Amino acid sequence: MGHHAEAPEESTEALLVLSVSKKNKNIRTVQVNRPEPEQVNFLPALAKGLGITLKHFFGNVVARKHTETMQYPEETKAYPERNRGLHRLMLREDDTERCVACMCCPTVCPANCITIVPAERDDAGIEKRPAIFEIDELRCVVCGLCVESCPCDAIRMDTGVHATAVEHRHESVMDKSALLKSGTKSIAVQGGTGPNWRK
Ligand code: SF4
Ligand code: SF4
Repeated sequence: MGHHAEAPEESTEALLVLSVSKKNKNIRTVQVNRPEPEQVNFLPALAKGLGITLKHFFGNVVARKHTETMQYPEETKAYPERNRGLHRLMLREDDTERCVACMCCPTVCPANCITIVPAERDDAGIEKRPAIFEIDELRCVVCGLCVESCPCDAIRMDTGVHATAVEHRHESVMDKSALLKSGTKSIAVQGGTGPNWRK
């Protein structure tokens, strides 16, 4: 029984070998010439490359030819006028914060890093004030949308200071007093008066 069961397998194998050998007849070989000695010897190319490296090395170290590197932090580059730095909260004439806790900036913030808790103003005005105003500078993507969205010129990023390195995450959160520390009086009309309101 066992012999009869194996017979069909043997014939299948034979057919397979036949078809492979038929295919092999179509395989052609291509003769490739050996590379020339100068193509095999990499030493001249290596020496040429090293020569270029050494030329740049001595040119930069001795003659300071191509050195674009700034010796940061001893040397610093002046930021452009419109650079977005750390945030600050602006002040009214009476030295209170200009922010009316309208929630435009936390709404528009793509990093969701502004936390505002509104409260009533003591002077019984119709506007609110932020009881808590915090920005997590580590999460901030420095897009400037908070500044653009503010209708009161209450928040700016023109401090010229970039976020510094911190050891713990919570140290990167600027609270209201920290944000007001660099705040100055803004002469913009509260609420704005059209496209040129900053003037
Ligand atoms: S600059 Fe952009 S990411 Fe940073 S607090 Fe403002 S809106 Fe949020
Ligand atoms: S958009 Fe301006 S006024 Fe409104 S919550 Fe932000 S900082 Fe305050």
